[in-house]
Amino acid sequence: MKAKILGSAQDGGVPHLRCSCDACQAAREDPNKQRYATALKVYDEEKGVNYLFDASPDIRFQLGDEFMDGIFISHGHLGHVTGLLYLGKESINSNMTDVYCSESAADFLKENYPYRLLVDRNNIVLNTFEENGHENLMGMKVDFVPVIHRYVPTDMHAFRIKTDDTNLFYMTDIDHWTDDAIKEVESADVAIIDGCFWSQEEIDRYERVPHPPIKESLEIFEDTDTDIIFTHINHTNPVLDPESEERKKVEEAGFRIAEEGMEIEL
Ligand SMILES: [Zn+2]
Ligand SMILES: [Zn+2]
Ligand SMILES: [Zn+2]
Repeated sequence: MKAKILGSAQDGGVPHLRCSCDACQAAREDPNKQRYATALKVYDEEKGVNYLFDASPDIRFQLGDEFMDGIFISHGHLGHVTGLLYLGKESINSNMTDVYCSESAADFLKENYPYRLLVDRNNIVLNTFEENGHENLMGMKVDFVPVIHRYVPTDMHAFRIKTDDTNLFYMTDIDHWTDDAIKEVESADVAIIDGCFWSQEEIDRYERVPHPPIKESLEIFEDTDTDIIFTHINHTNPVLDPESEERKKVEEAGFRIAEEGMEIEL
């Protein structure tokens, strides 16, 4: 099996609406610099198995003509759930696609338009799990790991994706590092984690939208063997510029910045 990064930006993408920062202007001029909202595909080409982790608003650029066996949803924020709408009547009119999510995410989808139309019309089937539950799927086991993230409109879960050979921890959003989350990263072979900001000073409203800054994560994980890849990168984050000092610091310390198309052998 392989995991493939289909999106590496914070929910709002790069370029970001109504923004004229250098990264956004560069992305408008050069499509190669655009980044989609975070998403990950886990697949086995030989067996024809495809699972998607998070349904981003950029889903129609992230997926090709492949059939999706199921979609895992981490939480209900813009970049992680709105892509589900493309399974509806106006687009592919999907037939009972399995969606795996928490109870609170399922309630949100069942109770609110336009998502509830997907449920009512059987475009999707909601599969919920108990706290710390898991799903056994073709060739992998997926554990749902609760993560602290502002609760609007659902709770948040990261994913521990295990095959016979590899343990991949996928966590796009977290408000701040906790002992449990640090342990998850340390015990994984590969961890694709929240790298939204470089520093707290990067935006005015950091207190309202906290994420652990990469600068601090580099210190926390400096002695960790895990292959760490930062994703969910905000348009304000200087690591977007491959020539920046910040990007060099990340790479010199042995970490990676997620890029669309990057693959991980599982
Ligand atoms: Zn997000
Ligand atoms: Zn910008
Ligand atoms: Zn979020």
